[in-house]
Amino acid sequence: APFAPASYAERCVSPRPDGVQVLPAYTGYAQYRAGGGYALAAALVNGEADAETLIKAMEDSGLRGLGGAGFPAGRKWRIVRDQPAPRLMAVNIDEGEPGTFKDRTYLERDPHRFLEGLLVAAQVVGTEAVYIYLRDEYHDCRKLLRAELDALYADPPCALPKIELRRGAGAYICGEESAMIESIEGKRGEPRMRPPYIAQVGLFGRPTLEHNFETLYWVRDIVERGPQWFAGFGRHGRKGLRSFSVSGRVKFPGVKLAPAGITVRELIDEYCGGMLDGHDFYAYLPGGASGGILPASLGDVPLDFDTLQPHGCFIGSAAVMILGHQDRARDAALNVMRFFEHESCGQCTPCRVGTGKAAALMEAPRWDNQTLEDLSVVMGDASICGLGQAAPNPIRCVQKYFPHEIS
Ligand code: SF4
Repeated sequence: APFAPASYAERCVSPRPDGVQVLPAYTGYAQYRAGGGYALAAALVNGEADAETLIKAMEDSGLRGLGGAGFPAGRKWRIVRDQPAPRLMAVNIDEGEPGTFKDRTYLERDPHRFLEGLLVAAQVVGTEAVYIYLRDEYHDCRKLLRAELDALYADPPCALPKIELRRGAGAYICGEESAMIESIEGKRGEPRMRPPYIAQVGLFGRPTLEHNFETLYWVRDIVERGPQWFAGFGRHGRKGLRSFSVSGRVKFPGVKLAPAGITVRELIDEYCGGMLDGHDFYAYLPGGASGGILPASLGDVPLDFDTLQPHGCFIGSAAVMILGHQDRARDAALNVMRFFEHESCGQCTPCRVGTGKAAALMEAPRWDNQTLEDLSVVMGDASICGLGQAAPNPIRCVQKYFPHEIS
């Protein structure tokens, strides 16, 4: 039977597998408070809840960073809390990964569930100030979030930290945590070399807790319903929930809240109403631009952190793009490479030059596979950050799984 948690009707923001459109009403501050919202944050700030218990709940739930890196949230809280004060927090709502729209979807409907998670994390870790970094293209989200923050400060449920809302400027690379921090500091958004890690030396040189929007969105549910509630979902041996942003040749694209480890075939059939009429499932991008491209013959691989690596791919922020038999994987790969070329920050040569050179080579009807492989090795080995390191993924996937398209 299709997955149906108690909150399905409230959270499923795109058509369900049966095609019914469920758009929950917007939950503003008063309504969120009336539903028991901010009780957890207030209990924690007022000393009625124990920080250690909450960290343990996060660890037991198995919640991992949902921006793409997948670092265990509870462990991150513990690491940053053990750093010397003052500590800071930075929240990433840049959501620049192509095909990803889950954060915006949740933010536009239930912003205080996220803000409460933010307050809980800030209190547990003991951060003095919080900087929210919001994607520049999300104009309406900025207005919405500003209004809801004002409502929160006008009638605070507990003592609040300083929360600053910062605008990005449209750069994909500012979704990378250290580039985001540079940008918040008012500098060019260029990734930093690590170590030191930002948990030790982050924003303004202080230990910094960095989280993606969705990671914080789940904190209240996990604490209130218990870590086993979250960990109890999952398929094919995986645990937890994932919000898949599904796009492409399916009947009902959208954000699909589904068990971790679901396969793309199950996702298409049970959550997306199947393929669009006239399109057969041919290939899929499991993790946005960076996560590679897989053929339909690998459509039964569980979608989760760690499960796609043996196939040269990764799930990242769970942006799943579906291609039909009228599409070509090489076109998708070229599109992705041009995107990387455009969004490369230019700081290191393998990425700045390599992505452009690769895109030019990928335009040829027959690929020069040896030169592309040489470029891939250099980009993967010598780039500073994940953009350049992951840039070879689409090349290698096409070479491995779709050789008929490029020979
Ligand atoms: Fe910038 Fe690319 Fe180097 Fe990353 S790999 S630091 S995006 S030039």
